[in-house]
Amino acid sequence: MSLTHEAWADALRDGDLLGVACADCGATYGTPFAVCNDCGGRDVETTDLPTEGEVYTETTIQVPPVDFEGPYQVGMVQVGSARVTARLEGDGEAVEIGDRVVLDGVVESGGEPAPVFRTATDGE
Ligand SMILES: [Zn+2]
Repeated sequence: MSLTHEAWADALRDGDLLGVACADCGATYGTPFAVCNDCGGRDVETTDLPTEGEVYTETTIQVPPVDFEGPYQVGMVQVGSARVTARLEGDGEAVEIGDRVVLDGVVESGGEPAPVFRTATDGE
């Protein structure tokens, strides 16, 4: 069964990160797609993604949209073999590429949740 956006959003609010994996080419995505973006295959299966990963890209939003306080960081987080777009929280310091981060809730905008990843604390 392919993953619906609603199921993805519900799981995310529960602290679970779902993605889809293409049965044809093995590509994995952190957002629900009905069709594989790599090969165009339609045999995509829902898969659980790790809730811990590594910052792949980051950028700071200096001028936030309405209803957000800024500046804040967003970026792509590598979780397993997938990448997800997420809000990044650095516990007082900027999150950098390569930092280990863990899923820590969601930020809601217009009824749509986006994952929030926070810097993983080492040695605790
Ligand atoms: Zn594919």
